[in-house]
Amino acid sequence: MIISMKPRATRQEIEQVFQRIEEFGYKVHSIEGEERVVIGVVGVGDVTACLESVEAMPQVEKAVRISAPYKFVSREFRPQRSQIVVDGVEIGGDEFVVMAGPCSVESEEQIMRSAEAVARAGAKLLRGGAFKPRTSPYDFQGLEVEGLRLLAQAREATGLGIVTEVMTDRDVDLVAEYADLLQVGARNMQNFALLKTLGRCGRPVLLKRGLSSTIKELLMSAEYIVAHGNPNVILCERGIRTFETATRNTCDIAGVAALNELTHLPVIVDPSHATGKRSLVPALSRAAVAVGADGLIVEAHPCPEKAISDGAQSLELQQFAAMMRELAPWISLWRQTRMTQAAATV
Ligand code: PEP
Ligand code: MN
Repeated sequence: MIISMKPRATRQEIEQVFQRIEEFGYKVHSIEGEERVVIGVVGVGDVTACLESVEAMPQVEKAVRISAPYKFVSREFRPQRSQIVVDGVEIGGDEFVVMAGPCSVESEEQIMRSAEAVARAGAKLLRGGAFKPRTSPYDFQGLEVEGLRLLAQAREATGLGIVTEVMTDRDVDLVAEYADLLQVGARNMQNFALLKTLGRCGRPVLLKRGLSSTIKELLMSAEYIVAHGNPNVILCERGIRTFETATRNTCDIAGVAALNELTHLPVIVDPSHATGKRSLVPALSRAAVAVGADGLIVEAHPCPEKAISDGAQSLELQQFAAMMRELAPWISLWRQTRMTQAAATV
């Protein structure tokens, strides 16, 4: 069950609700938004009596029963889509948002050229890893703080907000100083210490689906971040591991449609990690637009053959620009569909 307090509820009135819930033997999880307090109630058994009792209390706006194990991120909790603003760019609204840039930040020249080119082609946010989760300990691990500084420089030059990965809870404050959107990589989707810390980081989070995770597990991980105080979570389908070897991963495109039914959070697609092959990225990007994703995160590099990581799946900068031009008519259709859906839900 989720309880929304009225915006003017006092601390004492909120405490009284907590007390009533506890009298019924349930646990309380509250998130304090800027406008209002929302209280999550967890526990076993039938909540009807508790729900009716709480609903009658002063300053309680509404109490809703939620059957999904993830509460705050479910569509039952919030039937309308959530819009999440990253450095002035709204994701989950009526614009399809493309984030792009290299897999890793490698040098000043590389990130500056990438940033300028992707901005010119219409990307709204710049991606680039400063901390890299690599399968081999002998591979490039990222420029770390120097990479964050270079991203800040690219942001300064182009105005693009920055998306970059944070790998451990210890680095959250550091990465949050530079990044506009903190990425949780696939390998860290169930790093619960990291998720809890991100709940308190004050920045939006891009949560990538784990390599072998179900949609439910992805939503439970998002719930961690939200239940710990941060409602600004964007989900990312980046392909999962299957028996298929023709592509690096298998993009669960139906999973994007399923997520749109199950959660109000925005969902984007990463066609680069999903395919592992540059030639497949434009087709999968069209599929992401068609299925109703909220955006894309795409790898692009000034010279993919020299890239230190993920060169084979990175588009050359002019290929990225060409893909953006080719996507334009699909995105117009996407916008019309969004508007029709929005009109239908008013
Ligand atoms: C990345 O975005 O470069 C990355 C490492 O992605 P993932 O965590 O999805 O593998
Ligand atoms: Mn990569």
